[in-house]
This record gives sequence, structure tokens and C-alpha cells, in this order.
Amino acid sequence: MNTKIYSATTIGVNAYQVEVEVDLSFGLINFFIVGLPDTAIKESKFRILTALKNCGITLPEKKIVVNLAPADLKKEGTLFDLPVAIGILQTSNHLKIDSNFLNDTLIIGELSLNGEIKSIKGALAIAYDAKKFNKKRIILPKQNAKEAALIEDIEIIGVENLTELIAYLKKEINITPTVQSIEELKTTTHELVDFSQVKGQEQAKRALQISAAGSHNILFIGSPGSGKTMLAKRLPTIMPKMSFDEIIQTSKIYSISGKLLNKSLIFERPFRSPHHTISQAGLIGGGSYPQPGEVSLAHHGILFLDELTEFKRATLEVLRQPLENKNVCIARAQQSLEFPADFLLIAALNPCPCGYYGDKKKACICHSTLIAKYLEKLSGPLLDRIDIQIHIQSIDYDTIHDKKSQNVSSADLYSAISRAVETQKNRFNGAKFNSSMNTDEIDKYCQLTENAQTIIKRAFEKLNLSMRGYHKILKVARTIADLSGSENIDTAHIQEAIMYRSLDKNLEKQ
Ligand SMILES: [Zn+2]
Repeated sequence: MNTKIYSATTIGVNAYQVEVEVDLSFGLINFFIVGLPDTAIKESKFRILTALKNCGITLPEKKIVVNLAPADLKKEGTLFDLPVAIGILQTSNHLKIDSNFLNDTLIIGELSLNGEIKSIKGALAIAYDAKKFNKKRIILPKQNAKEAALIEDIEIIGVENLTELIAYLKKEINITPTVQSIEELKTTTHELVDFSQVKGQEQAKRALQISAAGSHNILFIGSPGSGKTMLAKRLPTIMPKMSFDEIIQTSKIYSISGKLLNKSLIFERPFRSPHHTISQAGLIGGGSYPQPGEVSLAHHGILFLDELTEFKRATLEVLRQPLENKNVCIARAQQSLEFPADFLLIAALNPCPCGYYGDKKKACICHSTLIAKYLEKLSGPLLDRIDIQIHIQSIDYDTIHDKKSQNVSSADLYSAISRAVETQKNRFNGAKFNSSMNTDEIDKYCQLTENAQTIIKRAFEKLNLSMRGYHKILKVARTIADLSGSENIDTAHIQEAIMYRSLDKNLEKQ
């Protein structure tokens, strides 16, 4: 006798249907799993048999063969425990599930030895793609039910243990499908941060406003304790709210990383700040079971690299691909897979090895050649992708204790940003931000007034700008003009944009 159960697995952020065929036949009592299983799957037979035994089920003394199809798809992990167990029960007549029901259902879940059904990775991604496989329902671990239930038009049956599932499949009990609206989940608490908590630093806040409005990568240069991290952390509070699609796309990445459990979804733009000792695989993804790296966990959010010069140069070089293509390709033996990685980069560094070059309060003790060498360590391809550079000064005593000083809040900054974002949506049909303009688009959309032209011409000569540097100024100036609702780029816009290229002089000489 032979039964087919439908299951699924994820590769990258996409789900693939897997057919679990179970065959029982006379012969030596044995249990085989074929069809490119990994070690975790091969070991599943012990979990499955023990779980069935512990649920009081005695199996006929026969040979069990499980085939996972398609054969060329590499299957990983423990989520096939449940479909295999159900397949065995159906084939051995312990269950008599209607074949239409089986054809319409995906079954996923890991079994523990006592029959409990444990959570799995990737439930959201599987639910997202389930309709592609013409499925009407998914039976999965209860812990994964909420995330999967966000996908509409698919019935989500969350189960806690095998005994419960068997009773459900025998129609002895009813399990109400999990219903979950995105609005209900939004009430999750999060750390309340706001720009109003940062005293002073108006210039830095302004630079971040421009960065958020036009999606410009930004570099902070400042002494230790100048508040670079505090500022960076608040950037998500002035970015546009995530759209439904962005929420699902980012949450899928957390789901396949197993980082979503009971945490519902990712509603706030993620802020990731990996330590400088991170490995290349940790940063861009990889491993023998390829997992998304920090760049993908920052998808639709922010990647903050503090102490940029402390990162290994080779580690920073791998950022080139995601910064350029907004995704990461990971080559594997059988197929390469892709993770999305569209993030805004904030990098921060000290101005010199001792940290105090240009600081108002403390003197720098570094020799000038040492400073040049220090900046040389910065990776060229990475800097090429950064539109805004800004020096951050540590704030003085008076600012901290000035009770009258008004602190610009996130809401203050956001009102102009939302207008600029709207303008760009109309300009590019929602496809991109000013930072991604190509040369033709720069020519088309960055019209300068006559006075502005004079200014940039002078800067071009004086700063010895490269064409790339010149284009960056135009893109940033476009965003500044959008923030003030101006169609043309005028003197004030271009002057401010030039201000954000302070490192160019140092760096482009190299
Ligand atoms: Zn120094």
C-alpha cells in the first residue's frame, strides 16, 4: 500500500512543494528514507517511530520506505517528521483520511519523542507560496500558526501534538483554523525611541532626515561618545511605515531564520548592528544550511556598521554585491540561492586612530601620516555607495543642560520626509528613490538653477571632484529640494549637498 502526503520546504525565501510517498511492504522490518534527505531527515525515523509508540500506536511489522520527491531537490531539517508520520498512519490504516483532503493539504512539523509537535523554520514563506501549489490548508505546529495565518485564503490548522492531530484527522475533534489580522499583531510593544531624546545634534539629525527621505547611505565621522549610535538607532523612526508587502517580505526572512517564533511579524523597519568581528557568512549569509546574513535581516531597514575601520577589509568587500543589487547570491553545490538585501547603510568611524581628530574638547595625538593611513583602510567600493558624509561633534555641557533648548523630534523630521517620499513615488512610479537614479535620470530630474550651476562648477574644480562624486551631490541635492517641495535645485540645496562630501578631498587623492 502506498500513500502520498504533500509537504513543503524552503530554499532561500521561496517554498517548494515536496511529495512524501510512504510505502509499506512485506520484507525485513526496516525503515528507509530516500530522495536526497540530509542527516536530520535520516534521523527522523527514530523520532517518528518513538513518537508513534509513545502515542500508543503499534505499527505492523513491515518494511517502511519513504520517498521524498522531487528527487533532485535537496531536503533539509526536521519539518518532514509530521508528514512522514501521517503517511505511515494512513498507509497502515490507522487513519482513513479522504484523498481530496490529503490533496488539498500541506503538512509540516517536527516531532519530539513524546509526540509533541515542535515549531519549524519558514512557515510564513511556505504559507505565502501554498496557493501556488493549489493547496487549501496547512497543518503545522501551533507555534507557527500565527505567522502563517497572515496569508489570506489558506486555512491554517495549528496543532500541539500528534494525539490531537490524529483525533482531528479522524474527525473526533474539531480544530478552529487560526485567524490572524495584521492589525491585531501591530499592538506588539517595542522600544520607544525618538529623536527628541537626542539633545542638540541638529546637523546630524538633518543629515539623517535627508538620508531617510532619499534612501541615501550615510557615514558618520566622530569622536567616541559623540552619539553616533544613539543617532543611528533612531533612523527607523523617521522612515516611511512599512507596507504590507514589505512586512511580509522581511518577516519571511526572519521566519526562515527561525527568528519569528511567537514574535508575530516584523512591523518596524529592522535595525541591525553586527559587531566588527562578524564573519563574512554572518554578514551576507551562508553556511552548510544557507541562512540569511545580517544584510538580509536588515531587508527594508537599516544596517549599522559601527567602527567601520575595525571590520576586516575582506568582510566589507562582500557588501559590494548587496549594495549594488539589493540582494545576495549564495552559491551552493546544487543550486545557488538568493536572499533579498535591500537596506539603508549607516557606517560610523572615528576620525583618526586616537579618535579625537577635530574634536573640540580633546586634542588628537595622531601624526598626520597615521591619519591618512587610517582612512586608507576604508574600502573604496563601500565608500562609493555612500552619498552623505557628516562629522558629528560631541555635544557640550551647555547643550545638555539647556532646559529651554527645543529638541527636534522624529515627528518634526518626518513631515517633510513623507512629502519627499510622495514626490519620488510619483517621479519613479514607486520603483526607486533618488539615491538609485542612473545617469539619464540624473540629467532629467536634477535641473539646476543658474546660480546653483555656478556653485557646483566651482566646487567641482575646488574639491577636484570625480564624476561619481559630482553625481552624488546632485542626487542628494535632489532629495534636499524634494524635502522643501522645490521643483528645481537651487543654491541652498546644492550648497548643503556639497557640505556632505567632506571626506572626498582626503579620499579621492588616493
Ligand atoms: Zn587622533
